[in-house]
Amino acid sequence: MNKKGVLIVISGFSGVGKGTVVRKLVEKHGYSLSVSATTRQPRPGEVDGRDYHFKTVAEFENLIDYNGFIEWAQYVENYYGTPRKFVEDELQAGHNVILEIEVQGAMNIKQQYEDAVLIFITAPDARTLKERLEGRGTEDRKVISKRLKRAYEETDDMPSYDYLVVNDDLDTCVEHVHAIILAENFKTSKNQAYISRMKEELSQIRKETAL
Ligand code: ADP
Ligand code: 5GP
Repeated sequence: MNKKGVLIVISGFSGVGKGTVVRKLVEKHGYSLSVSATTRQPRPGEVDGRDYHFKTVAEFENLIDYNGFIEWAQYVENYYGTPRKFVEDELQAGHNVILEIEVQGAMNIKQQYEDAVLIFITAPDARTLKERLEGRGTEDRKVISKRLKRAYEETDDMPSYDYLVVNDDLDTCVEHVHAIILAENFKTSKNQAYISRMKEELSQIRKETAL
């Protein structure tokens, strides 16, 4: 039996910098990242298949019908979903997989995968969050207002996460998240295969050395 990978769920308020943190985690530490499907329009510079699988509403609903997602949710008027096959294959292959998803999806994952590790990325304070969201310059005022309202609602779900990490200095935040993932990999529950193998080997050695 191989060691299974850890499923890591990263959420955070819109504009908090979780996308930036996740990209750095993948670059620096080689984690496997699930690319979600969405019905929202691509932002300038976003590439289909790399940032998201961009879908029409009909295509997305078809994938829901065919059980193509391990979770999906509606967030500020668009659909977002995590493709099932990629995640299941990667975990089976023993890789740590990151899902960068919003809170409804995270709660859904927590119910299905009891070993999943839920990390909430937050900002030093609310004004910094607003400035980052505005500073990104990718949403108009109406959408920014909706996303900040949603952020207020999301605070109710923060206590359901396993870890809360503040994204103040970017590199520090990346290393803190990496440290959490590393520690999760050392849990005894993640190392049952090692324990069984050690027991078997010791049983053999005991026979060989018996007087
Ligand atoms: P999210 O994916 O959470 O919506 P982004 O990763 O798009 O957020 O980041 C939102 C904005 O904040 C971007 O302009 C990004 O460059 C900036 N940002 C991210 N992390 C930090 C940080 N630690 N300090 C300052 N600005 C940051
Ligand atoms: P954005 O439009 O800013 O890229 O993403 C909006 C929100 O949708 C973010 O909170 C992001 O984490 C979340 N999101 C992205 N992909 C998924 C997904 O597959 N499932 C769910 N539930 N949320 C997602």
